Amino acid sequence: MNFHVLTLFPEMVENGCGTSILGRAAARGLLSVHAVNIRDYTTEKHGHVDDAPYGGGAGMVMQAAPVCDAYDALCMRIGKRPRVLYMTPQGRVFNQAIAEELSKEEDLVFLCGHYEGIDERALELIVTDELSIGDYVLTGGELPAMVMIDCIARLIPGVLNNDVSAEIESFHDNLLEYPQYTRPEVYKELRVPEVLLSGHHANIEKWRREQSICRTLERRPDLLAQANLSKKEKQYLDALIEAKNSLQ
Ligand code: SAM
Repeated sequence: MNFHVLTLFPEMVENGCGTSILGRAAARGLLSVHAVNIRDYTTEKHGHVDDAPYGGGAGMVMQAAPVCDAYDALCMRIGKRPRVLYMTPQGRVFNQAIAEELSKEEDLVFLCGHYEGIDERALELIVTDELSIGDYVLTGGELPAMVMIDCIARLIPGVLNNDVSAEIESFHDNLLEYPQYTRPEVYKELRVPEVLLSGHHANIEKWRREQSICRTLERRPDLLAQANLSKKEKQYLDALIEAKNSLQ
């Protein structure tokens, strides 16, 4: 899978995506992250890519032409016109389901704004999806792009050593993940739950599912409406809700 990032700060993306699991996956040819410097596509003699907003107001706006030209040059180079994801606090909030859908694409373009954002006409001309990482405003789209690339990359077969771990993590089935423990068995008088030491796989699996349901009810009850639960698990959840209500 190829991630292309249109940005004014390519070094930020290259450094951020070149280390750890992503860096190793790139070295193994499972993915590539290519940052395109939008500034290379300005025709302005001082290299400016932004200007004051029409109608007045604070800040500067990135101009349409360098953004569109950077995208067109990329399309010429790779011989296709991939989806363009504009990083914006005004977009749909990114989540695991969106990551799973995007992981099926062969190429994705991430468009990073800066300053007050990008001239609306560039967005109209090239953007296919507007995505946010949450209801807060950052200085630029590079961190959101890296967050999304990291999340999508983990879903590419072979990127994680153990593919199963990507499948059963938080948000899979709309449940949060169960608590995890590793050696030693006792730390500061806190014991690892006995069931995890039992070697009884069915019991461990049942305990983990119940812990997931319990945690999701405590921390993210909004997810439960879409959770994929068996009949027995629904009964377990109902009992938890009843117990919770009786305490109130
Ligand atoms: N004036 C814009 C607005 O109010 O919608 C915000 C511009 S912000 C200062 C600059 C750039 O940072 C945006 O163009 C976008 O690319 C990125 N950005 C900021 N917050 C973001 C968020 N929550 N999710 C995704 N991108 C964000």
